[in-house]
Amino acid sequence: MTKYDYIIVGSGSGGGTLAYYLQKGGAKVLLLEAGKFYRKNTFPSSEAEASAKLYWGGGIEFDDQAKMGFLRGRLVGGSSIVYQCLMNRFDDIAINDWRDESGIDYFNVDDMNVLYDKIESDLLLHTFTENERNGNADLFVKACDKLGYKWGYLRRGQGDCGHEEGNDCVTCLNGCHRDSKQSSLVAFVQKAEVLGLVIESEVEISHVEHGSDHVSIYGHKGLIGKKTPVKYSASKVVLAGGAFGTTRMMLRSGFKNQLPALGKKFATHPQFMWFGFQKEFVDAHKLYFQSVASKDPNFRKEGFKLENVFSGPVSASMLFTVRGAQHHDFLKRYRYMQCLEVAVRDENAGEFKVDNKGNLIVHKPMTDQDNTRKTKGHSAIRNILHAAGAYEVYESQMSFGLHLMGGCTIGVDGKNSVVNPEFNVHGMKNLYICDSSLFPNAPGINPSLTIIALAKKLSEQLIS
Ligand SMILES: Cc1cc2nc3c(=O)[nH]c(=O)nc-3n(C[C@H](O)[C@H](O)[C@H](O)COP(=O)(O)OP(=O)(O)OC[C@H]3O[C@@H](n4cnc5c(N)ncnc54)[C@H](O)[C@@H]3O)c2cc1C
Repeated sequence: MTKYDYIIVGSGSGGGTLAYYLQKGGAKVLLLEAGKFYRKNTFPSSEAEASAKLYWGGGIEFDDQAKMGFLRGRLVGGSSIVYQCLMNRFDDIAINDWRDESGIDYFNVDDMNVLYDKIESDLLLHTFTENERNGNADLFVKACDKLGYKWGYLRRGQGDCGHEEGNDCVTCLNGCHRDSKQSSLVAFVQKAEVLGLVIESEVEISHVEHGSDHVSIYGHKGLIGKKTPVKYSASKVVLAGGAFGTTRMMLRSGFKNQLPALGKKFATHPQFMWFGFQKEFVDAHKLYFQSVASKDPNFRKEGFKLENVFSGPVSASMLFTVRGAQHHDFLKRYRYMQCLEVAVRDENAGEFKVDNKGNLIVHKPMTDQDNTRKTKGHSAIRNILHAAGAYEVYESQMSFGLHLMGGCTIGVDGKNSVVNPEFNVHGMKNLYICDSSLFPNAPGINPSLTIIALAKKLSEQLIS
């Protein structure tokens, strides 16, 4: 007999949420996490230290061609600790595409809205207003209005951000020091701890063995230096390591032969950043640095969206892919920069493999359709920067994937999906998956609210 009803591997948006709802439903849950356990008063304070300590790959990982960089959190709370926490429901376009790709009936607007209603009541959500726009947002809005592009205010998971005390949102990408941002840690894990959730951090699981009445998982404890081998068993195990983490564990477990779709259908909403230089201070890093985005039905149809983003100076310096004096010159003008990005609703043409040392290899081609969407987005950005009066425009040559989706997709057919509609790995009744690796394709919309909604759905099924 094992001590826990459920073991969940990975404590991010999917795993942390599920742990809370299961624990609240009376189950005994063990939550395992590869990274460290930080809290609001222990998050690193500098951008460089946070980059090194809070992310897999020491800050950034790349595809097999080193063309696209990927960011994912490695700590209790997962990527939700470093995310911006913009929380959107999927629209009918995204939900219907999921139903078509997966064959799953509950992917319909009515059923999904019931789930969204339930989880939103457990989150603090704030929709921005005009007086919360910073300089970057103002330039974006005024240029969109001039050009007739539709835009809208974003909704963010946040409580009291304390801007009147001088706090800036860009710093909470290193972990929120106020427990305001609705990370999985704040919204779910800490609440589940009070209910008795057991959390073991610095435990990295390498592989899984599926038995008829239990699942065993193997890995090691310890981040650096001596690593101790560990083994856990439970009647039910849930993998929630994110698209990279879960797919890697599944591939390392040797499941590829029985699950031909394993490792396929990776998508990531590739992002491309642009800067416009203004004569006056923009201070794009100040206050709520991301409060508005494009909401143009034409852009949605054409498969891209524009976001009004920025980053701290260390990350920004990596985005300027120029050398020497030109790089210095760009950094000197940090406060004068207007910044915009296009995020492409990409095809799920990416694929994961592992090499013979167990390292994850990420293949992420940009398809012809992806490139067409990107080009259309770039042309809209150029129009906006021009209409906003930028005297110089710069396109970064770095592209990023922050929304890591697919690899263990959900669907009715075991030939082209990995997980069945009940979140079980096809043919393995005690093994479940609950994170963004399930996504059948790219929604073109921020994913985290839907990851949370699916975790809620799984919890209801398991508790009933
Ligand atoms: C900078 C940034 C900004 C973002 N902004 C937004 C936003 O505004 N809105 C939005 O919706 N989304 C945003 N995202 C994306 C969002 O954070 C992710 O899509 C979401 O958090 C993924 O949830 P997940 O549960 O799939 O994985 P994660 O949250 O990444 O959790 C996976 C966890 O599993 C752990 N793990 C992995 N492998 C193992 C293993 N072998 N053993 C043990 N533990 C393991 C990891 O360390 C991690 O903690 C952003 C992401 C980034 C990086």
